[in-house]
Amino acid sequence: MKHYSAFAIAREALRGHTGWERAWRKASPKKRYDVVIVGAGGHGLATAYYLGKNHGIRNVAILEKGWLGGGNTGRNTTIIRSNYLQDPSAAIYEKARSLYETMSQDLNYNVMYSPRGVMMLAQTEHEVRGYRRTAHANALQGVDTQFISPERVKELCPIIELRGPRYPVLGALWQPRAGTARHDAVAWGYARACSDMGMDIIQKCEVTGVRSENGQVSGVETSQGAIDCGKLCIVVAGHSGHLAEMAGFRLPIESVALQALVSEPIKPCMDVVVMANTVHGYMSQSDKGEMVIGGGADGYNNYTQRGSFHHIEETVRALIETFPMISRLKMLRQWGGIVDMTGDRSPIISKTPLGNCFINCGWGTGGFKAIPGSGWATAEMVARGEPGPLAAEFCMNRFREGRFIDESVAAGVAH
Ligand SMILES: Cc1cc2nc3c(=O)[nH]c(=O)nc-3n(C[C@H](O)[C@H](O)[C@H](O)COP(=O)(O)OP(=O)(O)OC[C@H]3O[C@@H](n4cnc5c(N)ncnc54)[C@H](O)[C@@H]3O)c2cc1C
Repeated sequence: MKHYSAFAIAREALRGHTGWERAWRKASPKKRYDVVIVGAGGHGLATAYYLGKNHGIRNVAILEKGWLGGGNTGRNTTIIRSNYLQDPSAAIYEKARSLYETMSQDLNYNVMYSPRGVMMLAQTEHEVRGYRRTAHANALQGVDTQFISPERVKELCPIIELRGPRYPVLGALWQPRAGTARHDAVAWGYARACSDMGMDIIQKCEVTGVRSENGQVSGVETSQGAIDCGKLCIVVAGHSGHLAEMAGFRLPIESVALQALVSEPIKPCMDVVVMANTVHGYMSQSDKGEMVIGGGADGYNNYTQRGSFHHIEETVRALIETFPMISRLKMLRQWGGIVDMTGDRSPIISKTPLGNCFINCGWGTGGFKAIPGSGWATAEMVARGEPGPLAAEFCMNRFREGRFIDESVAAGVAH
């Protein structure tokens, strides 16, 4: 892989950009791999990357039924934060956030990590108490957050309306090193690094069946033929239930559509991310100037990748009362992704009832921020056959044993 640098850009500018090579190789499936990963989203690609980088396992295929990064990884609103309440969540999300800080250098690919700060508005007394509690928990967990006053909120984000028609802003949970990154670049950067390590990324290759012998996984059936493998890792977000069924087990996952929208680009007016969870909407400004707006998840299970119309109306209403100046903006486009929700709104990183078959799913509405930490922890589990300290609490059995990692009440919203 040629090194990307300012010097390389200057050299290519002088020779008409004829020397750039493909970021990743086009691969056809081999007969057998040590590890097959299903799903070339951020979590699948990061798992492959850390398998190679941290554990020296490079005979790996990543199978993707569409195009890499075309699932939720390329559809999210790119918020990165680690201000979770429960210890296992704070540990894995903070690991991820800290890996984001150096990801561009690590991958030699600019993922445009922008630690601009994320604030979660407290608009009821209940939220004030909840976020103060989270700030105390974060202090013990080594996560840098503070509960800030309404005056400080206004200072950090002048376009905000503190006395909205329904709920006033009573303060906010502020994480100064949280922020955003470019979602496609995260997928592309990992893909380039995996390809450089000799791994095969095979697009338009749908897994249609899982093969096993004596209770151990032995391979997969795909739209490009059968592939044998020593270990299998399923990382397919909203399609996890289908893959689990192919492997012979059931998951406590529901798939729903979650949607987002962006406005026309405008001049810079907001350099933080604001989440207003009571009225339910959140917004940041992209480097192109568009206002990036996240909405709600459908209240019923579906695979539409669109989202219901009434959610757009609710989201826009919530944001207009929080930021009245956006009322005259035109919206450019809207889209949806299929998110994989667990009952406690925490992910699953786990061994499964099928030997040597592992699963990573359940990131729901908030897994972009977790990609590097999740990949790190999943690679460790696949390489060793057992989850390490970051993943151990996220096993599937917690639902049977009643050991929930309850972030649904803690965060109110998970993005
Ligand atoms: C609108 C929206 C906004 C969001 N906002 C945020 C946010 O601001 N911050 C945040 O942290 N998170 C956010 N999220 C959540 C985040 O996007 C996801 O949690 C994360 O991207 C999941 O990544 P993944 O790699 O698990 O899944 P995906 O990126 O969906 O990748 C799974 C891949 O598996 C492939 N696949 C499925 N079935 C098969 C098969 N049978 N064979 C082969 N391949 C298969 C799919 O095609 C897909 O490419 C948002 C999500 C949405 C939809």
